Amino acid sequence: MDNCIFCKIAAGTIPSKKVYEDEELVAFNDINPAAPVHFLIVPKQHISSLAACNESHEALLGKMMLLAPRLAQQLGCGYDASGNGDGKGGFKTLFNTGPDGGQEVYHIHLHVFGGPHPWYGKK
Ligand code: 5GP
Ligand code: ZN
Repeated sequence: MDNCIFCKIAAGTIPSKKVYEDEELVAFNDINPAAPVHFLIVPKQHISSLAACNESHEALLGKMMLLAPRLAQQLGCGYDASGNGDGKGGFKTLFNTGPDGGQEVYHIHLHVFGGPHPWYGKK
């Protein structure tokens, strides 16, 4: 879509620090990180927000969610899911949706925040 910054990042016409790319998704570091690890998982297809999704997007949304722990692991903030809140690590996932949801970029993206605990609650 014309004039969409995340479409341009996905297409590589605007630079970003990419941490993952496949045929459907791209993930890159947030330009204004709110945590020691802060990246965005974005579909290459332009979808304006979570509120614009329907059943046809189920697989894509599932793929975005499943990519979060995998990349978190690679970027040093994974969590060993065999525990029950013990152990170390972990991350936070977030979709901002619409004006009251704090969405600023209207191309759906999943925030992943990781790092030591005190920053939690931001965003
Ligand atoms: P939202 O509030 O829409 O959920 O968050 C949009 C996020 O995109 C913000 O955290 C912001 O820092 C990030 N962002 C906005 N423009 C750019 C950009 O050009 N490059 C990168 N890497 N991140 C961006
Ligand atoms: Zn877009």
